[in-house]
Amino acid sequence: MDLPKLAIAALGGTVSMQARSAGEGVIPTVSGETLLASLPQLRAMARVTVETLGLLPSASLDFEFLLSVLGWANEQVEQGATGVVITQGTDTLEETAAFFDYLWAHDEPLVLTGAMRSADQAGADGPANFLDGCRVALAVESRRRGVQVVMNGQIHSAGAVRKTDSLALQAFSSAIVGPVGLMVEGNVHYLRPPGQRTVLPVPQRTSQNVALLEASLSADSLLLENIVALGYDGLVIGGFGAGHASERWADAIVHIAEKIPVVIATRTGSGSTARSSYGFIGSERDLIDKGAFMAGFLCPRKARILLWLLIGCQRQDELEHHLTPL
Ligand code: ASP
Repeated sequence: MDLPKLAIAALGGTVSMQARSAGEGVIPTVSGETLLASLPQLRAMARVTVETLGLLPSASLDFEFLLSVLGWANEQVEQGATGVVITQGTDTLEETAAFFDYLWAHDEPLVLTGAMRSADQAGADGPANFLDGCRVALAVESRRRGVQVVMNGQIHSAGAVRKTDSLALQAFSSAIVGPVGLMVEGNVHYLRPPGQRTVLPVPQRTSQNVALLEASLSADSLLLENIVALGYDGLVIGGFGAGHASERWADAIVHIAEKIPVVIATRTGSGSTARSSYGFIGSERDLIDKGAFMAGFLCPRKARILLWLLIGCQRQDELEHHLTPL
């Protein structure tokens, strides 16, 4: 029987990090080929191709590089891959997952995974996550689920997953909905059927800048008032509670929203923005009246990804339509 084809790419991150010598900090040095060599059992599961597309800490990934990775992943599927696995740093995994998911037009799964412990640490989780990621990417049940994040025995959907712990092994969670699936004795077990997905065209433009500011107590409005003059094409605010801002910020937002799209998300880490509950200046009702859009369940970072992509494919008119699903 022909084994399925599995395409793997390494981008860097802790999963590929180790120290050059004792006492030094870890840096990305371990190639995809070396990662793969640590899991000989994979060769019995699939015809595996592996490429090291980058050796970067995930804080230094950027949208243009991710578009080139997407191009590589598209090619793999077009050439017959059953699934694609990308290893990268966990610090921005929730953002890259959303980025790829908005652009992933295939039924074949695209799985992102990484590690919380570096390759040279005792109890390194990289190999286990990598193997689980490959299992998820090869599972027929994973089709039509878009991009998923596999970490610590859990499968998370790209729209909901967030890094919610800085160093713990259990660093990823999906607020309200929880993981979409689990690894059980090496098998992929989904807890719910695939949901509706939004797929956008690949952006033609990549020079747009979308700012992300977080509301905070007694914050000045210096940056906010200059956001348009600074050349930003869009603004996302991690708002208080259900999508709120101070009076001072509300006064600035009304002028900004006349010029560029403004999205208000919740900075709480869980739950949706409101639409019709509060009426004070800076409330969601007031900010909607002032021309802002409410992000719904989309967290500030994912809302910024969405807005950047929509501006890039000249579809910002559709913004409201895309704000709400998990
Ligand atoms: N601590 C990060 C990680 O887990 C570093 C990075 O994101 O590259 O991979």
